[in-house]
Amino acid sequence: MVDDNNLNDLDTLPNFNSEKELIPSLLEELFPICRSITGNGVRKSLDILNTISEFVISEIPSGTKCFDWEVPNEWNIDDAFVKDSTGKKIIDFKKNNLHVVSYSIPVNKILKFDELESHLHTNSHIPDSIPYRTSYYNKTWGFCLSQKLFDKMNKNDNFHVVIDSSLSPGSLTYGEYLIEGKSKSEFIISTYCCHPSLANDNLSGMILWILLLKYMKKKKTKFSYRFLIIPETIGAIAYLSKNEKDIHNVCGGFILTCVGGPSNFSYKSTFYGNHIIDHTVENTLSSLAIPFKKIPFSPRGSDERQFSSPGFRIPIGILCKDKFHEYDSYHTSQDNLKFISMENILQSLSAYIQIINNLEKLDEFDLNNIHENVNKNSKFPIFKSTNPKCEPMLSKRGLYPSIGGSLKHSKSIFQSMLENEENLDLLLNTLFFSDGQMSIEQIALKSNLPEEKLYECSNELVKLNLMEKIV
Ligand code: ZN
Repeated sequence: MVDDNNLNDLDTLPNFNSEKELIPSLLEELFPICRSITGNGVRKSLDILNTISEFVISEIPSGTKCFDWEVPNEWNIDDAFVKDSTGKKIIDFKKNNLHVVSYSIPVNKILKFDELESHLHTNSHIPDSIPYRTSYYNKTWGFCLSQKLFDKMNKNDNFHVVIDSSLSPGSLTYGEYLIEGKSKSEFIISTYCCHPSLANDNLSGMILWILLLKYMKKKKTKFSYRFLIIPETIGAIAYLSKNEKDIHNVCGGFILTCVGGPSNFSYKSTFYGNHIIDHTVENTLSSLAIPFKKIPFSPRGSDERQFSSPGFRIPIGILCKDKFHEYDSYHTSQDNLKFISMENILQSLSAYIQIINNLEKLDEFDLNNIHENVNKNSKFPIFKSTNPKCEPMLSKRGLYPSIGGSLKHSKSIFQSMLENEENLDLLLNTLFFSDGQMSIEQIALKSNLPEEKLYECSNELVKLNLMEKIV
C-alpha cells in the first residue's frame, strides 16, 4: 500500500506524470530568459516557478552590507549588438544572451578591431560555441562569441558596439520556503538562479528544485527542509548574513545543480567527507544499484563554499549528473536544451527523493554527532581566517580573476606567488580550512596540497589581514 503522507517508504515514488507535463514547458519558458545575480530576469524566472509551487520571494536592497561583501547595483539589459561597417549585426544579444558579458556597463561606440579585441571572449577549445563570462564587480563590458566568428571578423574594419544595459540601485531577488517537520533540525535544499541561457548549469537545478519543493510540501516529514533559490555566491552570502540567527538548526544540506545531463551521477562530498549525509547518499545510490563517481570536497564549486565556510560549517553534498567544471560544454552555448533531457532531470528527482527518504530514517543524534579531529597539540602552525563567515571578497583585493566564468584567466594573485589556477586552489583551500582548529598538516591532508605552500600562502594572507596565526 502507498502511504502518500509518509516519506519513509520507498514505494511512495510517484509515477511523475505531472512532472512529465511540467518539465518541457518550464524548459522552454525559462531557458531564453537573461538571468544574472540581480535584475528582472531573476524576478521573471522566480515568478514562473512560483506558479508551480508557491514560495516566498524577497528582495535585499543594493548597498546592503553582508559580511565582507555588499549587494551590488542591479543590472538589467534590453539589447546589445556589434555591427560591422556595412551595418550587418555580426553579434546579436537577441539571438543568444550569452553574447554579452554579464554585468556589462552600457556602451555605444564605433571602434577599430584593435580597440574592440580586448573586450571579446572566445573558447578556442570548442570553436563553435559562445562562452559564458561575467564581470560582476569589475566595471567593464564585453562580448562573447565563437572562435569561428572571431576568426572571420575583418580585422581592418570599424565596428559599432552597443550595450543597452543599466546598473543602478535596486535589489537582489531570492526565493525561500520552509517545510516544517516534527523536528526543528533542518536541511537546506538550495539552488542558484543567476545563469542565463545555460541548461545543465543551472536551469536543470532550478527545475529540480521546484519539483522537489512541490513534492515535499505534500509530505509529512520528521525533519524540516529550508528551500532556497538564490543567485550564486552573493545570494548565499546575503542570505546567510540576513538570516544568520534563523539557521542555527540547519544540520546539513544539498545544492541542486547540473542535474540534467547525460552522464552517470557524480557525488561531491561534504567537507567532512564522512558525514552522515555522505553515508546516506552513497548507501542510497549503492542500494539502488545506481552507478556514481565520488568526488572529494574542494572549495572550488558552488554555494557550499559559503554554507560550509568556517563561520557556518554546514555540511553540504552535491549530487550531479554532468558536474560543473567537468563536461566539455560547461559554461558554453553548447550547454543547451539539446544537452539535457527530461528523463535525466527525472532520474535526479527520483534519486534525491530516495536520499531524503533515507535521511528521514536517521535519528537526531546521528545528524549532530560530528567528530572533528582537532589536534590541539599540533606542532604544526594553525591559522584562522579573519572573515570566517562566508568567503572574503577576493576580487576587491585583486585576488580573483576579473572576468568570471572561466578560471583559466586567473591573473595577479599575490603577483609573483599566486599566478596560475593551481595557486587559486591554494588560496581557496587555505581560506576555507583555516578555522583556527585545523593545523597546516591537517589542511594539507584534506586539500592534497603541500604543507610548505599552504604555510607560505597563510603568511601572505596574514600580511593582507585575511588571516591570523593562532599557534
Ligand atoms: Zn556555473
